[in-house]
Amino acid sequence: MHRGQLSLEERPLLVFYETTKACPLACRHCRANALLKPLPTELSTREAMKFIEDLTDFGKPYPVLILTGGDPLMRSDIMEIMDYAKSLGIPIALSPAVSTKLLSDDVLREIRGRVSSVSISLDGAKPETHNYIRRTALEPINVFEKTLEAFSKLRSYGIEFQVNTAVMKLNVHELPHIFKIVKDGGANAWEVFFLIRVGRGMELEPLSPWETEDVVQFLYDASLYGLQIRTVEAPFFRRVIMQRNSGASYDGGKLYQELVNGLRELMEEPPSNVGKPRFTPTRDGYGIIFVASDGSIYPSGFLPLTLGNVRKDNIVKVYREHPMLRAIREARFNGRCGVCEFRGICGGSRARAFAELGDPLGSDPACVYEPRVGAAQ
Ligand code: SF4
Repeated sequence: MHRGQLSLEERPLLVFYETTKACPLACRHCRANALLKPLPTELSTREAMKFIEDLTDFGKPYPVLILTGGDPLMRSDIMEIMDYAKSLGIPIALSPAVSTKLLSDDVLREIRGRVSSVSISLDGAKPETHNYIRRTALEPINVFEKTLEAFSKLRSYGIEFQVNTAVMKLNVHELPHIFKIVKDGGANAWEVFFLIRVGRGMELEPLSPWETEDVVQFLYDASLYGLQIRTVEAPFFRRVIMQRNSGASYDGGKLYQELVNGLRELMEEPPSNVGKPRFTPTRDGYGIIFVASDGSIYPSGFLPLTLGNVRKDNIVKVYREHPMLRAIREARFNGRCGVCEFRGICGGSRARAFAELGDPLGSDPACVYEPRVGAAQ
């Protein structure tokens, strides 16, 4: 896969920067174990700028810098950091928490013009579910209501946004309704996260492998309505896209039937003018790289395997040369993922293999696919 003249071997599409661990929310699945106050180990403004400057060594077109957290708006220098990245020509996306700060007109005016898009989380189709998962730590606000308000405010300011949903046993039955809210809310993409047992995600019950398969198959059906859908830590969604685009059917389990019936009831039949779903074959460490608040470099936010630190290492050199990233990129996996004919476009979640098996190159335990051993990729 190429973007511009360099391949994903040479340059990621997305660089995630966890600007801070401070956050007004205390979500039950938080990867970052976010806190109310920033940690003293956070990169200073100067250090953050130095690392951002290093990103230009990737060459143009530069990767998108995704400012995440915690809540990046908790950093008092966040606008300064954005201005610096923008002055270098680096595109910026912002992933704030929904709080009164984000919803203020002053902040929205400041964001507009600085960022290419914003991502907002919605984990339930009703206040009880969303507010239970995305509980507040600082502000006594109805986060669900404020999230819907954020959609309409972002729209009115002309700021593009995508919606992120973490799927788990607790909210899986609400997925068709969440999809409808996201689509009707004017988002340009829906990114569905599958739990990895890291951070506070340890407290929640993930889906079983067959439930996971039912959900990714449902996401294929949902994507026929024209909204771009991506998955995080379920790269086998691309296997499903390839299978279904080439005519394979899926009868599925009870959960799949329930979700698809829910979709049809809410949305009627998909329009006939939507093309087949497409994808970009990134995975942790391949097209994606993550920098933690203390400068540690990881293949992704869910794979806490330290590859270096931007305080002393050049991120471009780490991305291009680190043996672990090379192994991931070359799809040198163990177990089923290592012999799977889909490993080039999928490769399984490296984060889940690490969390569940202790082997970042192991098989993804959430995938039910049995590879046709020996089949060509
Ligand atoms: S076995 Fe591994 S590479 Fe194959 S589809 Fe499943 S997760 Fe992807």
